[in-house]
Amino acid sequence: MKFLIGITADLTNIKTLQPQLGCDDTNFSYFFKMKCVDCRQVTTKDTCVRLSEKVEDYDGSVFNLTQKCVYCRKKGFLKLIPGHGRPLLLATAESRMYTPLMMIEYRGYMEPVDFSFGPGWKAVSMTQGMYRAENRLYTRLL
Ligand SMILES: [Zn+2]
Repeated sequence: MKFLIGITADLTNIKTLQPQLGCDDTNFSYFFKMKCVDCRQVTTKDTCVRLSEKVEDYDGSVFNLTQKCVYCRKKGFLKLIPGHGRPLLLATAESRMYTPLMMIEYRGYMEPVDFSFGPGWKAVSMTQGMYRAENRLYTRLL
């Protein structure tokens, strides 16, 4: 199953917002809550996925994460697919549109259900402003 994560935000004095070295930065951490598609339990802690971390599926396909359900022990695989993200622009944010961030593919029993924002974002400000805590980010599946 594949889907695209989209973001938008309330931006104050900011022109663009993106991961520090761009959406395809191999060391940028994407954080997810994962749900087991079998027993329906959702993980309590965020799962961290990076492009630079590689694991193999049963058939040798390369993924960036493997995780087992803590309740029923069923296993899932998750992959980040680069090349789909763009910086969030002020005009996009102001019109409440979403900008694609990263394509995700998962296989097996663990389904990503929520994306959380961790550290490592770069905001380009319009003035001497900084990236401020009140800039809120929203995600949805595109
Ligand atoms: Zn389970």
